[in-house]
Amino acid sequence: MKTVDQFNFSGKKALIRVDFNVPLDKQTFAVTDDTRIRAALPTIKKILADGGSVILMSHLGRPKEGPEEKYSLKHVLPTLKELLGTDVAFADDCIGESATQAAAQLQPGGVLLLENLRFYKEEEKGDEAFAQKLAALGDFYVNDAFGTAHRAHASTTIVAKFFHGKACFGLLMAAEVASLEKVLNNSEKPFTAIVGGAKVSDKIMILERLLGIADNIIIGGGMAYTFYKAMGGSIGNSLLEEERIDTAHELIKKAQEKGVNIYLPVDSVVADKFAADANTDISLSKAIDDGWMGLDIGPEAISEYVATIKQSRTLLWNGPMGVFEMEKFQNGTVEVAKAVAEATANGAYSLVGGGDSVAAVNQFGLADKVSYVSTGGGAMLEYLEGKVLPGVRAVLES
Ligand code: AMP
Repeated sequence: MKTVDQFNFSGKKALIRVDFNVPLDKQTFAVTDDTRIRAALPTIKKILADGGSVILMSHLGRPKEGPEEKYSLKHVLPTLKELLGTDVAFADDCIGESATQAAAQLQPGGVLLLENLRFYKEEEKGDEAFAQKLAALGDFYVNDAFGTAHRAHASTTIVAKFFHGKACFGLLMAAEVASLEKVLNNSEKPFTAIVGGAKVSDKIMILERLLGIADNIIIGGGMAYTFYKAMGGSIGNSLLEEERIDTAHELIKKAQEKGVNIYLPVDSVVADKFAADANTDISLSKAIDDGWMGLDIGPEAISEYVATIKQSRTLLWNGPMGVFEMEKFQNGTVEVAKAVAEATANGAYSLVGGGDSVAAVNQFGLADKVSYVSTGGGAMLEYLEGKVLPGVRAVLES
């Protein structure tokens, strides 16, 4: 994988696709989580250190029809300036006169941020003429936006074709791919995958793939109850995907054939309503009474999961064990997070990814106690499913 480390950017302008799609405060528009901006800094700093200049382009949110104040990337400027410790120019359009002029005026060491790419519908359509206009701004193209690498948009894929021999990956992208490759192809055994979250349907492809590489698959979250239903259990009012019962059945069968251990939560924290102030109890997951729903894994499941995690040498975690946004149902996710951190301290390699599991490790202050926290949710899932991400392919083929 060719990265910025293989080029010297002295006197050159690098057009970098970053993922600055960060959460903003609804009233003040201040950045409330700067993880993605921090993640892009090593690439930017490398180019500036070479004596090059950078032009940053990104999307922010989902604007519908052209420019919308609340989705302006200018809201990101104060945070970016502070983190970089340097001034950053802003062009109020990503193409056209203002972008062209601002790019032309850039001096070595200078940084320019372009306005939201998705103010143009051409971005998501992967429009070639739009990509060409973006391409005209820089001498090199760098893709460092792992979070959008699974999208074939103008700035993530099409633009690369205008930079023959002058396109490469940023350091974040390279680190994300290296971490995924380590887990997929170079993992120490036992390899335990922890898969949680709401739906079987979202995770089915990754579960299928994991059957070929993992020794243990730990299942938590709402998706566990479709598995119990498939095995003939009573799950009360817990989350159920009727149309996935057969899929769950097949997965259990395939796992048995391949000798992969599938762990389902023996017991659950059940609630009489989906609410933070619900009454709660502990129930066997296969025998939940009507009127009750499983919203977290129970104490027995926790001790079984924690023991398995601690014996593992490679860990991959995607999706929470319960409704961790509510205090009464966060224990399972907290204990799993702590076990992953402890295993890591004892030498295991751990990769955590997917919006909610990342939010969980951040919330519990454990992000720096795991080996790698991915910045991409959808992109990570697609990579794990075995797809070549369009954003990766485009640079490889340029
Ligand atoms: P996902 O985006 O598929 O990883 O799902 C994350 C969401 O699943 C979180 O918002 C959790 O609150 C939710 N979730 C986890 N466990 C359960 C459960 N047992 N019942 C309902 N929702 C759940």
